[in-house]
Amino acid sequence: MNKIKYCFASMLFLFGAMAFAQEEGETEKPREPGHVNQSKFKQLYEEFSTPNTYRSASGAPGPDYYQQRADYVMDIELDDKNAKIYGEETITYYNNSPDDLEFLWVQLDQNVRAKDSKSPLRNGNGVNFAYMAGDFAQTYVTEPFDGGFNIEFVKDANGKPLSYTINQTMMRLNIPQPLKSGEQISFSIKWWYNVPDHTVNRARSGFEYFAKDGNRAYVIAQFFPRMAVYSDVEGWQNHQFWGSGEFALPFGNYEVNITVPADHILDATGVLQNREQVFSKEMMKRYKQAKKSYDKPVLIVTQEEAEAAEKGFSDKKKTWKFKATNVRDYGFATSRKFVWDMQAVKIGGKDIMAVSLYPKEGNPLWEEQSTKAVVQTLKTYSKHTFDYPYHKAISVHAKNQGMEYPMICWNYGRPNEDGTYSDRTKYGMISVIIHEVGHNFFPMIVNSDERQWGWMDEGLDTFMQYLTEQEFGKNYPDVIAPNSKYPSRRGEAAKIVPYMAGDQSHISPIMSNPENVYQLGPNAYGKPATALNILRETVMGPELFDHAFKTYAQRWKFKHPTPEDFFRTMEDASAVDLDWYWRSWFYTTDYVDIGVKGVKKYYVSDKPTKQMEKYMADRNITEADLPPLVYLAEEDSEDYNPDLKGKAPTEVSQNLKEFMMDNLSAEERAQVQEPKYFYEITFDKPGGIPMPLIVEYTYADGTKEKVTYPPEIWRKNDAEVKRVLSSQKELVGIVVDPKAETADIDTANNSWPKKEEKSDFDKFKQNIKG
Ligand SMILES: [Zn+2]
Repeated sequence: MNKIKYCFASMLFLFGAMAFAQEEGETEKPREPGHVNQSKFKQLYEEFSTPNTYRSASGAPGPDYYQQRADYVMDIELDDKNAKIYGEETITYYNNSPDDLEFLWVQLDQNVRAKDSKSPLRNGNGVNFAYMAGDFAQTYVTEPFDGGFNIEFVKDANGKPLSYTINQTMMRLNIPQPLKSGEQISFSIKWWYNVPDHTVNRARSGFEYFAKDGNRAYVIAQFFPRMAVYSDVEGWQNHQFWGSGEFALPFGNYEVNITVPADHILDATGVLQNREQVFSKEMMKRYKQAKKSYDKPVLIVTQEEAEAAEKGFSDKKKTWKFKATNVRDYGFATSRKFVWDMQAVKIGGKDIMAVSLYPKEGNPLWEEQSTKAVVQTLKTYSKHTFDYPYHKAISVHAKNQGMEYPMICWNYGRPNEDGTYSDRTKYGMISVIIHEVGHNFFPMIVNSDERQWGWMDEGLDTFMQYLTEQEFGKNYPDVIAPNSKYPSRRGEAAKIVPYMAGDQSHISPIMSNPENVYQLGPNAYGKPATALNILRETVMGPELFDHAFKTYAQRWKFKHPTPEDFFRTMEDASAVDLDWYWRSWFYTTDYVDIGVKGVKKYYVSDKPTKQMEKYMADRNITEADLPPLVYLAEEDSEDYNPDLKGKAPTEVSQNLKEFMMDNLSAEERAQVQEPKYFYEITFDKPGGIPMPLIVEYTYADGTKEKVTYPPEIWRKNDAEVKRVLSSQKELVGIVVDPKAETADIDTANNSWPKKEEKSDFDKFKQNIKG
C-alpha cells in the first residue's frame, strides 16, 4: 500500500472510530456485576511458578541452578536359559543442592510388575469391547507374572547393611546421618528379577521368544535400581511409576559390565571398552571399514552369520564392558539372533556411528531403512538443537516396541514372513526410528521430567520428528511414493482436528500428568507437536521460532527444564508474547473455530447518515459546529442512494475534496487511487482459541489478496471482530484460513458467500459411485 493511499484511508476512518459508531436506539441495560480479568491475553502469572535464583524469568537456568548427580558402577549378568537378570551396583550420589537430605529415594520401576503391584487395580473402566490376547491371558487366565525386584542387600560404603523401606516402585534409604549439601555418599545394591516377555505385556523392557529357533532377543531397560531426581521444583520426585508416566532421572557416569552367553551380539549405552575381546577379527576389520563409511552401512554381523549363531546355544559366557559419561539412564540389547550394521555420520566435525541391530525377522526392511533413518535424525535434530554429543546412536528392532534410552532405542516395524511389507509398515518403522532416536535430544539430553510432563519430551520430539520425516522424504525420494512428501502421521494442523473437535469429557489439557489423561497419544504427542508446528509456520514464522527453540535446547541440554522454562524461553528469544498461545493450546481444551459471519457494503455519501442526524439532534448541534466530516452509507439502509455506487469518494464528498486540495500537492493528488467500494466484514470466533485471522479476499476481476490480522485482533472481543475493507474493485468472496493451517475444527463457516457444503449423505453417494 502506498503512503498517500494509506493517509487517505486513515483520515476517512478516524471519525468512524471516534464517536459516531454508536448503535442506534440504544436503551439503558440493567447494571451488570463486575468480573475478574477473563481475557485470553491475560498474563500467565497465576499459572507460571514465580521465577527465582534457580530458574530465571527469561526461561534460562538461574545463577543458583543446581542438579544432583548419580554415578553407577554395575556388574550385570543375564541368565538366558531362565530369563532372569542379576545385578550388583554401586551408586555414588552427589548432593549438589543447598539442602541437607535426611533420606534418599531410589526407583524400583520393575515393581510395577510385582505380584502385589497396585498398578492393575487403579483402573475403573469395566469390561472392554476387545482385549489384546496377551493382556486377557495375563489378567484373567494365567498366574500374574512375578516381575518385581528381589533386593538381596543394600550396603553402605563399608559393607554394612543400610536400612531401607520399599513403597511400591520407590525405595527410601534411611541413611544414618543427613547427606549434607555438597557431600557425596556411596552405597551398593544387589538385586535380581524375572525378565518379562515384552510382546505379551507391552513392557518397555524384556525379551521376545522366537519359537522356530528357540532363541530370545532381549531389550533391557529400567533394569536396575535408579536414583530419583531431587530438584528445586519437586524436592524428591515421588510420583510412583504406574506404567504410563515415564521417567525422571539425574545425569551421571556409568561403568557397566554385562555378562551374556558367549555367542550373543550386544550393544548398549556407552563406549565399548573391550572391543578386541568381544569382537572376532573379521568383525574388527568390518568395524574399521564402517567407521570410514559415510554413505552406507557396513555389516558387522551378516544375516548369514546371525542365522548360523541361532543354532549355537553356547554355555560359555562373555562380558561386554562399557563406560558412559553424562547420561541419565542405561539400556542394552542382546541376542545371538542379531544382524548388526553401522555407518559413520559427520555432525559438527565429529564422527558419530549410526547403528542398527535386528533379527533376520526384520529383513529386508531393516537392512534397507533403519540406519538411514538414524542418520537423518542425527542431522535434522542437531541442526535445530545442538550437535549430537554422544559417539553413537543405535536402533534395535523389537516387535511392537517404541522406546528410548541414551544412545539406544527399540523400534517396531516387521515385514511379513515372506519378506513383503506394506507402505504402512515401512513408514511406521521409519517414523518410529526417527522418533525414538530423536528422544536422545528430548528427554535424554534436554532432561525434562517425563513422570510429571509427558508432553515435554513426547510433544517436542514428535514436532522434531515431523521436520525430520519431511527432510527424509526430500533426501530419499526413492523411499517414498513418487512426487509426494513423506506421509507424516502427526504434525500438520488438519491431522489434530478430529481430536480437538472430540468429546470434551474425554480430552485433557496438555498441561496434565500423563497418568491422568484420557488419550495419551493425541494429548502428549499429537497436540503439542501440532501446536508447535502451527506456532512455527503460522504464528511466529520459522526464523523466530527456530532461533527460540534452539535457544531452549542450548540452555537446557544436560539440565532439567520445566514447562515454564520452555514457555518463557520461547518468548524471551523471539520478542513474541505467547502467553495467549500457551494458555489456550496448553492449559485448556479449547479448540480453533473462526469464521466469516457477514458483509455489509458501504459507499461515501455527501449527506449525514440517519445515525449522525440523531447524534446532532441529541446534542442540539449542526454540521457547522463540527469539523468537516465524511459519511459512509450502507447499501441496505435508508441512508443509501443508488447514485453513490461505484463513485470516487472525492466526487461525492465536498469535505473530502477540500481536505485533499488543502493538504496534498497536485502531484500527490495525481497519484491517489481512490477506493470505490467499502465493506464492513464481521468475523466470528465460536472456538475458544484466539488465532491469527488469515483471510483471502477475492475481487470481481478474479484477483486475490491474502491478509493476516494478528491474533491480538481478538484481545478486546473474543467472540466477534469487524474489519473495514476499502477497494477499487468489487469484493466477491472471502475465505478464512484458506490453507487450513490453524486446525479450524469447523470450516462450514469459513466462506462468504457461504459455500454449499455437500451433506454427508451426498458425499457418501459420491464415494459409492467412485
Ligand atoms: Zn516418544
